[in-house]
Amino acid sequence: MTGAFDDLLAANEKYASTFSHGDLTGRATRGLAVVTCMDSRIDPLGLLGLHAGDAKILRNAGARVTDDVLRTLVLAVYLLGVDRVLVMPHTDCRMSKSTDDEVHRLIAAEHGIDTRSLEFQTVRDQEETLQHDITRIMTSPFLPRTLTVGGALYDVHTGRLRLVEPPRP
Ligand SMILES: [Zn+2]
Repeated sequence: MTGAFDDLLAANEKYASTFSHGDLTGRATRGLAVVTCMDSRIDPLGLLGLHAGDAKILRNAGARVTDDVLRTLVLAVYLLGVDRVLVMPHTDCRMSKSTDDEVHRLIAAEHGIDTRSLEFQTVRDQEETLQHDITRIMTSPFLPRTLTVGGALYDVHTGRLRLVEPPRP
């Protein structure tokens, strides 16, 4: 284990030496939760002009609204000050380039691992999936009807965000 994280520990040493966020609480001061992809090109705080303490950032493969995302949003809304949610998938997402079956086959062929018991929730049509995922939040029996829910597609090549019309109620 020694070595693999040395670069990170060294960077943290530097970070902690000028740390100034010690007084923040776990409440999102901008009332915002962002659901986005794990893609390493996305800097959610930077691209939205946010800072530590401002927002809850929920990330997974494809920015999907999974049961775990709903569980987290319920806690974020009722305990941690969130009153608006932005679901933010992105262009050039690996999750929109294969079906679940193709991913299973690829991993089996290249690594000999059977992943078929996992649901990857790959995306066929990004806009359609975004509408579906927003609807999941808007109609969740555990979330308040007063919650503001929006969707936007982030362009990893231009850094621009394009708001997507929400589904009709
Ligand atoms: Zn992605």
